[in-house]
Amino acid sequence: MRIRLAEYKEGVVTKVSEEYEPKKMDIEFVDFVYSQNIFLDGTVEKGLETLTFRGRLASKIQNICGRCLKAVPKRLDCPFEFFYEIKGKEMIETLDDLRETLILEHPISFVCQESCKGLCPQCGINLNESSCACVPPKGELPSNGFSQLKQIWPIKNRSNHG
Ligand SMILES: [Zn+2]
Ligand SMILES: [Zn+2]
Repeated sequence: MRIRLAEYKEGVVTKVSEEYEPKKMDIEFVDFVYSQNIFLDGTVEKGLETLTFRGRLASKIQNICGRCLKAVPKRLDCPFEFFYEIKGKEMIETLDDLRETLILEHPISFVCQESCKGLCPQCGINLNESSCACVPPKGELPSNGFSQLKQIWPIKNRSNHG
């Protein structure tokens, strides 16, 4: 939202609202998908040297579980409060700050539940909902991995002790 300072009276709290399309804001992640537009409700108050812009951003998202890919619907409601220096300025662009507020809501990793069993790596079935007869592949390491380690260790120990 662009705030044109000439449109606001000093010391008067003015209500503002705005609607944003998530795609245009460049805030979507593969595992954090907006299912509706983002609504801003807030107030602008112009002072002598600073402008206070506060309010809330609300929307709905689908958060995708990192293990089983299940989409979990969530309601977003992010309060924000920004202060801008306005001396010598005609306009304040708030979009970057609003975008940052929304991006901070994106969890680094999300699971639908702590005990989520995820998907079977072989048949892709959701192991929370059903089970399958797949046999897990035998050890990632080659079967002689241990005997190789045994050969390496004595050599390493010897060189460490001179
Ligand atoms: Zn899950
Ligand atoms: Zn399976």
